[in-house]
Amino acid sequence: MPYISHSEDGDRMPELPEAEVVARQIRAGLLGAQLTDVWIGRADIVREGYDTARWYCGGTLRSVERFGKSVALGFVNGHACRYVVAELGMTGLLLFQSTATKHPQHVHVKLSFEGGREPELRYWNPRRFGRLSLLDKAGLDRYRTRRFGLDPLAVSQQDFVRLLQERRGRLKALLMHQQVIAGIGNIYANEILFRAGLHPNLQVSQLSVRKIETLYTIMCKVLDEAIRHGGSSVRDFFAPDGSEGQYKRRHLVYGKEGRPCPNQCGGVIQRLRGERSSYFCPRCQAVRSKRHA
Ligand SMILES: [Zn+2]
Repeated sequence: MPYISHSEDGDRMPELPEAEVVARQIRAGLLGAQLTDVWIGRADIVREGYDTARWYCGGTLRSVERFGKSVALGFVNGHACRYVVAELGMTGLLLFQSTATKHPQHVHVKLSFEGGREPELRYWNPRRFGRLSLLDKAGLDRYRTRRFGLDPLAVSQQDFVRLLQERRGRLKALLMHQQVIAGIGNIYANEILFRAGLHPNLQVSQLSVRKIETLYTIMCKVLDEAIRHGGSSVRDFFAPDGSEGQYKRRHLVYGKEGRPCPNQCGGVIQRLRGERSSYFCPRCQAVRSKRHA
C-alpha cells in the first residue's frame, strides 16, 4: 500500500478528473451501503451542520455526485435525505480504510459502513484547507449555486460558446474561474490550452466561435482522458483505494519548462510565473502573430 504524504509545492488542488475518479470509486465501493457510525475527530473540520452528524447513522448511501472539485454523498434515512459534501481542497482526500496514510493523525472524519465492499471511508486532510459540510437539500443547492459555475462535462457546446462570448479577460484565468466553469485548475487549463493552440493570456473576446468550439471539444477530450487514466497524481492526489492517477504521463506542457515542444515545432516550453504558472509553447500558442478570427 502506498504511503501518502504531502509536499510544499503549488498546484495541490485536485481538479475535476481527480474528483470524478473519487466519486466513481466511492460509488462502486459503497453505493447502497448503510452508514453505521460517524466519527468526527475535530469539530472545526465541519464547516456546516456539525449538530446533524447523528442523523446520518442508519442512513443508506443513495448517491455520490461530483460538483466542481467537491464530492457529495447523498444519504436517505427514513423519508429524509441529507448530504455529506467533501471539499477535495489542498491535500483533502477521501480514502478507504485499507489505504495507509503516513500521518494517520490527520484523519479527521471516519464513516463506517455495512453492506458495501468497503468498511470505512475516511477524510484525511493534513492542512485542513478543505472542509466537510453536512447539508440538507436546500443547503446543498445553496452550496452549489454559491461555488460552482457550469460543469465542463455537462455543459453543451452551444452554452459554452455563449458563456465565453459573454465574458472578458484572459482565457486561462476564465477556464480556472470556478464560479464560471467549475472543476478546471492549473494543470488541466495548461494542457487544454496547449492542445487547442491558444495562449494562456489571450483575451477571451479575441476568440472566434470556431475557436471556442475547438476549445470545447479539446476540453472535453482532455478531461475524459484524464478520468480514464485515474486523474493526475502530480503531488498529492490518491484515489480512495490508494491508487495514483496515471494521466501525469500524458501531460504535454505542465511542468515541462525548457523541454522541446511535443509538436516538434522547434519551440521550447516556457513557464510564465504568476500565482499559478502557465506552461506553453510560444510558437504553437502565439498570442499575437496568428489571427484568432
Ligand atoms: Zn510548439
